Amino acid sequence: MTRSLDPEDWQAFRQTAHALLDEVIDHIATIRDRPVWRQADAAAKAHFTRPLPVSENPLEAVVDDVKTHVMPFATGNLHPLFMGWVHGAGTPTGMVAEIVSAGLNMNCGGRNHIGLDVERQIALWMSEALGFPKTASGVFVTGSSMANFMAVVIARTRCLGPSVRVDGVVGQARQLIAYTSSEAHGCIAQAMELSGLGSAQLRKIPVDDAGRIRTDRLKAAIAADRAEGHLPFLLVGTAGTVNTGAIDPLGRLAAIATEESLWFHVDGAIGAMMGFSPALRGLLEGVEQADSIAMDFHKWGQVPYDAGFLLVKDPEAHRAAFAQPMAYLQRAERGLAAGEIWPCDLGPDLSRGARALKTWMTIETLGSARIGAAIERSCHLARSLAERLGADPRLEIKAPVALNIVCFGIRGADRDMIRTIVMDLHEKGIAAPSWTTLNGEEVIRCALVNHRTSKADLERFIAALQALMEHYAL
Ligand SMILES: *Cc1c(COP(=O)(O)O)cnc(C)c1O
Repeated sequence: MTRSLDPEDWQAFRQTAHALLDEVIDHIATIRDRPVWRQADAAAKAHFTRPLPVSENPLEAVVDDVKTHVMPFATGNLHPLFMGWVHGAGTPTGMVAEIVSAGLNMNCGGRNHIGLDVERQIALWMSEALGFPKTASGVFVTGSSMANFMAVVIARTRCLGPSVRVDGVVGQARQLIAYTSSEAHGCIAQAMELSGLGSAQLRKIPVDDAGRIRTDRLKAAIAADRAEGHLPFLLVGTAGTVNTGAIDPLGRLAAIATEESLWFHVDGAIGAMMGFSPALRGLLEGVEQADSIAMDFHKWGQVPYDAGFLLVKDPEAHRAAFAQPMAYLQRAERGLAAGEIWPCDLGPDLSRGARALKTWMTIETLGSARIGAAIERSCHLARSLAERLGADPRLEIKAPVALNIVCFGIRGADRDMIRTIVMDLHEKGIAAPSWTTLNGEEVIRCALVNHRTSKADLERFIAALQALMEHYAL
């Protein structure tokens, strides 16, 4: 006898599901009372090395396993003292949105259904927030790594024409060259690798003391490449670098890109969400002149993972890089296969979930002003953290606090000691900063992204840090 995979007893399922929902809500509501992070214990690890289960397990038993073996050992980014990496904290609204998304199980690759309208709404909202025209096209992707990669592909196709999709770049008379700063995220170089252009064709232009690309050096590099007979095609600016939160001079970059006929892409993985803050939006000046912007709702937008997005000013250039003519993707005049542009025309994904719904529900519920205020609060807390740390003569702030990232050193602590202190803080479950290298020196890095972080939380972090410094006689 064959059965569907639905529960036989919907009432029992309902009870278990509601109890689990309560469990997750409690987990979020009481997150501050638990360690930031815990190493997964042996039992939890062993639980995920078991053979394929052939027969059924009751949902209640599996839920118990989730509670015991998964929930205590998650990433830690819900906690207000998780600040090692630029991770969003999520919101309870985003969590329930995910229940709806999974329940409806829409395939948002294409076809004629409301999921595509929801996605289109996000493109309109971000165009409004960032000064793009209403006609701009947008598409959800896993994250900015993918969005930046797609921007490289679009810029390449724009430069060489659609025939490059068939012919590839092999045998091109001139070498395509892209430009970004030495502080750009590593995924830009990877995008050059994946697109077949090669990371050797990415010029990493030096930065000034504030971590912003030096436009004099950029212009010199472009001129040198042209003199060599190369073909400059792409300029990538960063709005919020991962090390220090620096923002490149986007207006200047836009002008250079226009003069030099380059595609101007902005990696706004961190910074694009500042479009929601009237107080911070000015820092993005010039972003409206970009050809494309990568952004992450799952970072400062606080939408649950994953929710990256690519916004492209010229919808035709966007489509020209990805749209495919397959018979099974043909459009009808009416019915479920209607619609002119489908998300599968705008990127390499065909089957794709409804990342737009959790993003829409989060923004619709909170409003842009409240999300913007949480972003401003991160920046404010970063400045006050830097002040508090800087007041301790044993500590030294190592980079200007442009946005929400504080990098500091401990006098007399070498690279190993910096790492030891960071790892101790993680293992004690008190706080999760990270370390990074700035000007060849190991520094402790606190990226304030979590909307839950408060001044009192940061005081707890400072006290724990100072206790460790005393412990190590620093
Ligand atoms: C996080 C980040 C990326 C990569 O984005 P993912 O969403 O992790 O793929 C790219 N650039 C910057 C500046 C980032 O902070």
